[in-house]
Amino acid sequence: MITVETFPAGPLGCNCSLVVDATTKRAIVVDPGGDFDLIEEKLGALGATVDAIVHTHTHIDHVGAAAAVQRKSNARACIHEADRFLYDLLPVQAAMLGVPLPEKVEMEGSLKDGSTLSAGSVELGVLHTPGHTPGSVTFVVKTQDGTRVFSGDTLFRRGIGRTDLWGGDSGLIMKSLREKILTLPDDAVVVPGHGPETTIGEERAKNPFLAR
Ligand SMILES: [Zn+2]
Ligand SMILES: [Zn+2]
Repeated sequence: MITVETFPAGPLGCNCSLVVDATTKRAIVVDPGGDFDLIEEKLGALGATVDAIVHTHTHIDHVGAAAAVQRKSNARACIHEADRFLYDLLPVQAAMLGVPLPEKVEMEGSLKDGSTLSAGSVELGVLHTPGHTPGSVTFVVKTQDGTRVFSGDTLFRRGIGRTDLWGGDSGLIMKSLREKILTLPDDAVVVPGHGPETTIGEERAKNPFLAR
């Protein structure tokens, strides 16, 4: 049995998710954007031990609490290597958004297309879906309730990510959406980087940015 808990965290209310094997209590944290105390409280309530901290991309609002979670858990913290330059640009991102500069952590550039991260019975698949940023990834996990997709800022309910920030590419985001994300099962639940959940089928039918 796998538990997924999602809640907004950090300065821009990024959706942070805890993906937990309910038996072994091993967990993966997706996008700890900020509010370390809140993340800690939720992990504590679940009795969870963090094995990995992963990021859909390296905008500051998705990585703000990574160092704090890492220090507490000693878990590996991972991004896609193509977003490394954005981690180096954190001071610029902080200045642009007017948010405090978070503490830095040793980030592994280990998220690769087709790879899988494990925590107990949790198997989190990685799809490289560039466009919003060069190292944007989408995570896919199968649970007893079906497939869950963590799309970061690549796909939102009725929207897609902006491509006017560092390294954004409007052609690439469309290619990622069509070839990697819309090919997932219709009934897969999508947890976007911000805002409400949706499903792949619903977005294929109703997302105006994906209409031909
Ligand atoms: Zn973003
Ligand atoms: Zn975001």
